[in-house]
Amino acid sequence: MDEYGNSGEGRATRRDEAVRAAVEQGLLGPDSPIVGLLDATGIRESAAELRAAFAEVTAPGTPVLHAFAVKATPLVPVLRLLREEGIGAEVASPGELALARAAGLSPAETVLDSPAKTPAELREALALGIAVNADNPQELDRIDGLVRSAVSRSPLGIRVNPQVGGGSIGATSTATATSKFGVALRDEGAREWVVRAYLDRPWLSRLHAHTGSQGIPLPLMAQGVAETYALAEEINRRIGRPQIDTIDIGGGLPVNFASDVTAPTYAEYARALREAVPGLFDGRYGLVTEFGRSLLAKHGTIVARVEYAKSAGGRSVAVTHAGVQVATRTVYVPGSWPLRITAYEGKGRPKSGPEVVQDVAGPACFAGDLLAEGRALPLLGQGDYAAALDTGAYYFAHHYAYNSLARPGIYGFVPDRAGGVRFATVRDPQTLASIVAESGGAHAGALTTLHAPGSR
Ligand SMILES: *Cc1c(COP(=O)(O)O)cnc(C)c1O
Repeated sequence: MDEYGNSGEGRATRRDEAVRAAVEQGLLGPDSPIVGLLDATGIRESAAELRAAFAEVTAPGTPVLHAFAVKATPLVPVLRLLREEGIGAEVASPGELALARAAGLSPAETVLDSPAKTPAELREALALGIAVNADNPQELDRIDGLVRSAVSRSPLGIRVNPQVGGGSIGATSTATATSKFGVALRDEGAREWVVRAYLDRPWLSRLHAHTGSQGIPLPLMAQGVAETYALAEEINRRIGRPQIDTIDIGGGLPVNFASDVTAPTYAEYARALREAVPGLFDGRYGLVTEFGRSLLAKHGTIVARVEYAKSAGGRSVAVTHAGVQVATRTVYVPGSWPLRITAYEGKGRPKSGPEVVQDVAGPACFAGDLLAEGRALPLLGQGDYAAALDTGAYYFAHHYAYNSLARPGIYGFVPDRAGGVRFATVRDPQTLASIVAESGGAHAGALTTLHAPGSR
């Protein structure tokens, strides 16, 4: 095992022990049949690896802000843990900004990017001094107005789309010709518009691109960064001074969902970037990164109890409590988002035995609610557990309220000194009262007491 746990052996051992301890300690059982588990040790390892990877390729003294894309795991305790590990926050909505602030992140550690910022959001960000990347000319107009009317410490930039192309998953490819994000650089007149925008605004000091998430190959990501760097160089040359002093390269490092191994690693990506774009690392530019999935995915596990085991048309089906509500993308687009599943017996120990091709189903009332279809696993029986691995980003923290299924509790864990596991509550399980409240419970009579004039 390497220093950062990239081989995944330590992670797999910690995960097995956490599942067993969750059953022993009653976090998981007949009355709480689904939980999300977060490996705090693994999160710290990934954060340390990210910092070390870029420290290795940047010139000494280069300012680097690693801003975690909050949308990947919007949980305050996660943001606080990352902050302790020297990682800031990339936010894209008032809610995400509120989470970052609740976690104690300072404006200097926060970056706001979103395609639909309102005037009020922009005003707040500039008043706080949070870095903002303008998505489009209309947004830049709004920022012009704010900059004219008040002094702000916010570093300001423009997001561009280098249009280098998409990857294997359309929904997470942000650098296609028609992506909705940023200024589409290869469109007619766009590049010149961007250059002029900087020439006319001495306070624009950053340039931002995020060329995609899961499914984008490393060379394509590096090409997106190279084109963004080339644009910054062109702008600074035309202005005749280094007005752009920071390049925000976005996130998007893909995650290996096929095994416990971390691949590619941050170190590999950082070296590939230095090779492709050496000028970016010679000390003339500060750097911002915005990784999400690659920091958290491998540190989360959904564990769900098998409520019933049945057979249909010759296929074994384990009906569990984890389905579309916690693994929405996997259930709706299983070809793009397959998850590894492991089987545990009722006491939370890894289940052994001959593998049987079976379906692992969720609790929701539609036929496609399957965590895995036709998967070879030791046969899951009633009272066993199925775990969906690598679900720390974009899964259990992204609850989908189908069938009014409750948000599961989320618990962080670390090994304790006695060979056991210590847990801490990250998010309480949702109560039925909260489901009713969120579903208009306070307005039960709203529609029956609403009458059109002249009717009854
Ligand atoms: C989603 C997003 C990220 C994070 O992407 P990952 O694939 O999770 O690393 C970073 N920056 C922006 C602007 C994003 O929209």
